[in-house]
Amino acid sequence: MGDVWTLTEFRYGELKKVSFELLARGRILADKLGSSLVSILLGYGIKEKDIDELIKRGADKVYVIEDPRLENFIVEVYSRIILHLLDEYNPDIFIAAATTIGKTLMPYVAVKRKTGLTADCTFLDIEEGTGLLLQTRPAIGGNILATIKTPFTKPQMATVRPHSIKPAPYDEGRKGEVVYKKFNDEVFSASTKFLRFVKNESEQINLQEAKVIVSGGRGLGRAENFKLVEDLAKILGGAVGATRDVVDRGWKPYPHQVGLSGKTVSPELYIAVGISGAIQHIAGMQSSENIIAINKDPDAPIFKIADLGIVGDLHQVVPLLIEKIKEYKKEAR
Ligand SMILES: Cc1cc2nc3c(=O)[nH]c(=O)nc-3n(C[C@H](O)[C@H](O)[C@H](O)COP(=O)(O)OP(=O)(O)OC[C@H]3O[C@@H](n4cnc5c(N)ncnc54)[C@H](O)[C@@H]3O)c2cc1C
Repeated sequence: MGDVWTLTEFRYGELKKVSFELLARGRILADKLGSSLVSILLGYGIKEKDIDELIKRGADKVYVIEDPRLENFIVEVYSRIILHLLDEYNPDIFIAAATTIGKTLMPYVAVKRKTGLTADCTFLDIEEGTGLLLQTRPAIGGNILATIKTPFTKPQMATVRPHSIKPAPYDEGRKGEVVYKKFNDEVFSASTKFLRFVKNESEQINLQEAKVIVSGGRGLGRAENFKLVEDLAKILGGAVGATRDVVDRGWKPYPHQVGLSGKTVSPELYIAVGISGAIQHIAGMQSSENIIAINKDPDAPIFKIADLGIVGDLHQVVPLLIEKIKEYKKEAR
């Protein structure tokens, strides 16, 4: 069996957390296949500790390509390097995150390699008997989950939805191999030129980076009542999420939506207020580390995945919670 590769995201001196999620997925696949997990790291300003962290989080091998010309992501250059590496090593599986970089680079590479690519997978597995990569993703507007295989070409390629798995844990005892690769100038030539990086200001609600998220559902009753959710989020230093029902009613704009057709999140703490726990909502938050649900219906499905359930009227529970947290903070000072 060939190796399993993950594309590490490294931007402006920083390893992106999504790279560790890919290692978590990749580790499961490599273990099932009995093959090695290789992390591909391209960038500029890469430090020893970055490479080491990839190994500690599951990579058996890291291919490092470091060059000032890789500081900014230019798809032509990045893909040319990846294609050289693919030709040289011929891995079985190659996965990247379904981020802007992954969604730009992977189709480019797949076309050049004449192989298949499944975008935005929420689950990956290995088929027993054949060893093929099973690439599962929502299809037909999220109404079904489709599993796709790439039986005839290699590598089998997929992008994986960020936050659909917890990052691989750090294991101090892990050891691995580091291979530094060099490429000639030709590889770095491009018909496009990087001018400047402009941050998308509309992405201000950083739901996917938040450690705490308080989300509100239809149980809030009306838009004004969302203040309860906002106040709770504020006192916890968290972000505000919402269900699709809330977004459809115009109580909160779409960037707040958590779920299958919204954002996938995995904060340390997710508080669901007046949310029933529909499968499409759960799909976007089930990998949260701790889930607290507040719902007046003891049979609400959200309680099935909650670590802590509070059965009660949110209009009573949430103000009480805010008050208690305030008291606690005062005492802790
Ligand atoms: C293709 C497709 C994609 C979808 N994508 C998404 C998605 O991305 N995200 C998403 O969220 N949904 C999505 N949905 C919709 C999803 O199926 C549900 O309709 C939606 O999540 C329900 O939202 P809700 O929990 O706010 O409302 P409800 O299901 O109506 O739940 C409201 C809850 O509030 C509780 N409640 C009421 N009053 C109180 C009170 N005073 N105190 C405490 N609890 C109270 C009720 O007991 C109930 O459990 C999608 C659906 C489809 C078909």
